[in-house]
Amino acid sequence: MTAFTPKKHFPSNRDDSPRRRIWTAATEALLGTASDRSIAARLKVSHVTVTRRRHELGIAPFGTAALAWTAEMESHLGRVLDTVIAQKFGVTVWQVSWRRRQLNIAPARPRSEQLSSIIAKTQPSPVPPEPAAAPTKRRFLVDQPQYRRTGASYPDTEDKALTAFLERALAEVYSLDLKPIACPYCHSRHTALAAKPHARLPRPAFYCGKCDKRFNRLTATPLARLRHTEVMPAFIRLLSQQIPYEEACRRLGVDYKTIANWAKKIRLWLLQLDPSGRWEAKVRLGIKTRAHIQCPRCGAEGEKQFLGGSDHRGRRLICSTCNTTFSVRDAERLTQQRVRLEVLYDPGKIDIDPA
Ligand SMILES: [Zn+2]
Ligand SMILES: [Zn+2]
Repeated sequence: MTAFTPKKHFPSNRDDSPRRRIWTAATEALLGTASDRSIAARLKVSHVTVTRRRHELGIAPFGTAALAWTAEMESHLGRVLDTVIAQKFGVTVWQVSWRRRQLNIAPARPRSEQLSSIIAKTQPSPVPPEPAAAPTKRRFLVDQPQYRRTGASYPDTEDKALTAFLERALAEVYSLDLKPIACPYCHSRHTALAAKPHARLPRPAFYCGKCDKRFNRLTATPLARLRHTEVMPAFIRLLSQQIPYEEACRRLGVDYKTIANWAKKIRLWLLQLDPSGRWEAKVRLGIKTRAHIQCPRCGAEGEKQFLGGSDHRGRRLICSTCNTTFSVRDAERLTQQRVRLEVLYDPGKIDIDPA
């Protein structure tokens, strides 16, 4: 490759190494008009060469010159992380860091102090209570994990009211009472007992004198064809629990497909029994959520990941912007916000036909 050439052979102050030889008035005019990488590709040089020359000439990177900085935007520079400012104003991190360097402001660093000692010093007011959510909104328990390593146990998060509601409803549809019910097809009351339960017919069958159809109490409910219903009482106690389907399979000794099918059918049935969705919203089985809260160290909004164990200090979150971890409790105290758990994945979601 090119051997080292002493400078004295080139008396002009223009560096004629191959790296510099590409720079002419025409090529320099390109700088900042497109990304360094795309200019580098066009000139067939490394993007580092382009970036370096652009810096030497004090040309702003592509897209940053056009951005109009307001005093309000600039007031955050160096006080808040560049990434957070970028997020707040919907600009790129590059645009922020470029402006910050132009104004000769040192970058902000996330708080590195122990959050508990910041809390002890600043004495923030207690976290405001969670506003009463609509009863049809699904709520998750932030202190309880939704996923654990195999073998670890899950805390009991059963909603006893949902269990009781379903127990009553199940007792009704699985009832052996011989008194005829209204026809599920035509709603006629002209119905009669068609057959008492016997060896091959576990439930009484009825007959409609108006539409000439046979039915039982499960007809026209999503439960009509469910099998293994002997574990149904145990299953309904799991519906409100914040556990994955796999855990329900393990506890009931049935396969994943069955659990997924039951969960979907029962949720559909809950919506039939109560179209307001109040009871259906109590189902948590198999639903994955993600946490949202402002980072107490760097201020970044948005999604935070749960981190491993939850012990005496409560569950911990990690911020992907500043890469630090903190407990849910400390974050809520410092930001005066509540962690929001939003549904990330719901395998039993029912898309209700708007019609
Ligand atoms: Zn009928
Ligand atoms: Zn952060």
